[in-house]
Amino acid sequence: MVLPFTEPFKIKMVESINKSTKEEREQWIRDASFNLFKLKSEQVFIDFLTDSGTGAMSDRQWSAMMLGDESYAGATSYYNLKKAINEITGFSYFLPVHQGRAAENVLFSVLIKEGDIVPGNSHFDTTKGHIEFRKARAVDCTADIAFDSTSFHPFKGNVDLDKLENVLRNNPKEKISFIIVTITNNTVGGQPVSMENLKGVRRLADKYGILFFIDSARFAENAWFIRTREEGYADKMIKEIVREMFSYADGITMSSKKDAIVNMGGFIGFKDEELYQKASVYNIIYEGFITYGGMAGRDMNALAQGLYEGIDPEYLRSRISQVSYLGTRMKDYGIPVLEPFGGHAIFIDARKFLPQIPLEEYPAQVLAVELFIEGGIRGAEIGTLMADRDPKTRENRFPSREFVRLAVPRRVYTNNHMDYVAAAVKNVFDRKASIRKGFRIKKEAPILRHFTVELERL
Ligand SMILES: *Cc1c(COP(=O)(O)O)cnc(C)c1O
Repeated sequence: MVLPFTEPFKIKMVESINKSTKEEREQWIRDASFNLFKLKSEQVFIDFLTDSGTGAMSDRQWSAMMLGDESYAGATSYYNLKKAINEITGFSYFLPVHQGRAAENVLFSVLIKEGDIVPGNSHFDTTKGHIEFRKARAVDCTADIAFDSTSFHPFKGNVDLDKLENVLRNNPKEKISFIIVTITNNTVGGQPVSMENLKGVRRLADKYGILFFIDSARFAENAWFIRTREEGYADKMIKEIVREMFSYADGITMSSKKDAIVNMGGFIGFKDEELYQKASVYNIIYEGFITYGGMAGRDMNALAQGLYEGIDPEYLRSRISQVSYLGTRMKDYGIPVLEPFGGHAIFIDARKFLPQIPLEEYPAQVLAVELFIEGGIRGAEIGTLMADRDPKTRENRFPSREFVRLAVPRRVYTNNHMDYVAAAVKNVFDRKASIRKGFRIKKEAPILRHFTVELERL
């Protein structure tokens, strides 16, 4: 008999989670104005709000923390991190920052001017926020296949190179800050971008003389998909694939809270020394001196170790299989989920799940709230609420996707937890006809409204 695949780790420390009753949860979510971000984490049983900063660190990361050097300048922890970043990403220059959006803030301060455009593939919400905050515009060049939630394509996160070339051809060079490609493409469902596609973007960047950056939060998961789905990569090491992906870019922004398995941290990688020098000024203003930039020495040490653990192929296999296990359970129950399954999360198609709720009443939010009431599960709305309003017209933007994202933290939950979640989703699915009304917004912020929005039931 072939031995089954298992997690390549055992558990050294456990944390209790709290069960509650449906009645308690109904009250709590009402008190939170139906915004899952406003719940206390102790009210949540299975927390699938995000995979960002929620992973479990290893014994090696914890021991690296004890060796953290807290010197203001030139700490050994900085050099440990520098070595890991050089080896893994290939970038010679880097700036530590406290998290991914801080990397965006620092880099974009150098490169984006008012009136610019920034083409890319479904820019992440903070990326778009940092672009629009500078009165520039994010132009989405995602391949159309991404918006078909059931057809199989191995690289649904890809950029449509024709769309991108149109943007580059039809705009003056000085108006285009840079191209940004997100791997994996979080917003369309944690879908990977192929090596072929990254090469294609590089070719266009060279042809039009534009900088090309990678938003690389889930670079290791992307590399895993390249290895398992793209021709010519099956025998390559994850390490080699990662180096090749990054070799096509002029730099990267990295939220280390995802694939580098730390609770806080990030960095910017640069090919070019001059750009690194310019960004250093903003790093000092916004983050901290260039050898710690918003991170404690111990955190840089844990990050250096986490970068190596995040590209371990045995770890990546267990990670991707756990997410796909959850997706398969739900699919077997007939629940409309995005396929192929993403790397970090399963996405439920709320329009198919609750066709009776119009987009104006935020069906994905309705479903996310029902999952919380049913099983104490906290997911996230990736749809109309998150899409914000058009900055000019102030009308709701209706994105072509209306999903509930169940993001699985790294090395935290077991497959029994996955079974529990799938069963709770099925229970809501069985009673979906009784859900007749959605929400109305009571209060919202002008940008990134989903974090703080207050809703009421219609
Ligand atoms: C999380 C994330 C960011 C922002 O990083 P934070 O660490 O949350 O600030 C940017 N881009 C992508 C694709 C992300 O997933």
